[in-house]
Amino acid sequence: MSPASTAGAGTAGPERVVVVGGGLAGLRTVEELRARGYAGAVTLVGAEARPPYDRPPLSKRLMAGDLDDTTLRDDMDTLGLTVRLGETATGLDAGVLRTDRGEHRFDRLVLATGATPVGLPGEGRQRFLRTLDDALSLRARLRPGLRLAIVGAGWIGAELATAAAARGCAVTVVEAAAAPLAAAVGAEVGALTARWYQEAGVELRLGQAVDAVQPGGLALAGGGWLDADEVVTAVGVRPAVGWLDGSGIALDDGVAADERLRTSLPGVFAVGDCAAFWSLRYARRLRFEHWDVALRAPAVVAANLLGGAEAYDPVPYFWSEQFGRMMQYAGFHGGADRMLLRGDPAAPRWGACWLSGGALVALLAVDSPRDLAQGRRLIESGAAVDAARLADPAIPVRDAVSG
Ligand SMILES: Cc1cc2nc3c(=O)[nH]c(=O)nc-3n(C[C@H](O)[C@H](O)[C@H](O)COP(=O)(O)OP(=O)(O)OC[C@H]3O[C@@H](n4cnc5c(N)ncnc54)[C@H](O)[C@@H]3O)c2cc1C
Repeated sequence: MSPASTAGAGTAGPERVVVVGGGLAGLRTVEELRARGYAGAVTLVGAEARPPYDRPPLSKRLMAGDLDDTTLRDDMDTLGLTVRLGETATGLDAGVLRTDRGEHRFDRLVLATGATPVGLPGEGRQRFLRTLDDALSLRARLRPGLRLAIVGAGWIGAELATAAAARGCAVTVVEAAAAPLAAAVGAEVGALTARWYQEAGVELRLGQAVDAVQPGGLALAGGGWLDADEVVTAVGVRPAVGWLDGSGIALDDGVAADERLRTSLPGVFAVGDCAAFWSLRYARRLRFEHWDVALRAPAVVAANLLGGAEAYDPVPYFWSEQFGRMMQYAGFHGGADRMLLRGDPAAPRWGACWLSGGALVALLAVDSPRDLAQGRRLIESGAAVDAARLADPAIPVRDAVSG
């Protein structure tokens, strides 16, 4: 038994809370517990040796060389925690978290283990862009003329391509789908970003699967080969939940949670990239890899962990900065029956809107934060919209409400 697991603090609520995962969601859970006056013992167990840090800048300002550290707070000690960094959770039994360094008893447990990148087969070295150390090590190698192959034209691939091209690398992005961002926003909208690669001097190979990463380059499906000095695999992530196998907890592309972020095990909650929660708004289980979820959902976990009954029911929000543009997406277009463009995609500012049953359900805004803000409220309202007005960039999004 670790010393961390012995103390209880005689206040209302559980005596011992353990949070697994020292990312944004884990840190925010602790902050929200303390903000609600919880004075009991809290232990934060994180596999990374670093204190919690922010990930979005890793592929943006940090990769561009504008900053070197994204640590979220320097005053962790003011939270009155036992912080166990460099310690990996390995299993879960009733009331006990097992780790590679011991075990921690808990009354309440919060799972916030995030996600880990998916790799490709092959003997060659492939890098990923998930951790601060990944980012610093990759950035140190970005020099003019470096032949950088990025597998995957998703958000991270596009952001890395932006930074690497600006640093003079010869960048090739290899994407199996027919368009960039196809999995996130669909091929039709994603295709509208393809010319951004060309304008930045990045070679984009679409419809090209990769068989393996080999020393010196990529073995391409169909028998081709691409020389590369460095390979970064950016084909997506998986929730980091393998360590929960055998614990009896329900998994469903992540830890299955209800709308209150409670898992199938009593007293155990899940939050952030690792949590697939029941969305009341969309009447289905959803798992997002969005910073906004890791920021805000912990308030719901903390409230419920202390006896509340709050539902987490957001209009999801995500942003990406690529090729000098700010892309912002709000909503969820999984059930949309119609997509329309707002403005001309060749213009500096444009967007895409998804409708379902005449209401706006999702909006992508390129360099138009006002559209995003208004669209988000419109999505929340569920009001019927006039498609022609929505498509006209001269009309504010909020004025697209029909009738
Ligand atoms: C390069 C990059 C750029 C991004 N850009 C954006 C963006 O522009 N906009 C946006 O909305 N989102 C962005 N994201 C996504 C966003 O950062 C994530 O959604 C967010 O970090 C999720 O936070 P989390 O705390 O749930 O998980 P994580 O940040 O992954 O933290 C989980 C932590 O748990 C630890 N852990 C895992 N398993 C164990 C274990 N068994 N025991 C102990 N600890 C464990 C991990 O090591 C990790 O430190 C980006 C992500 C990356 C990587």
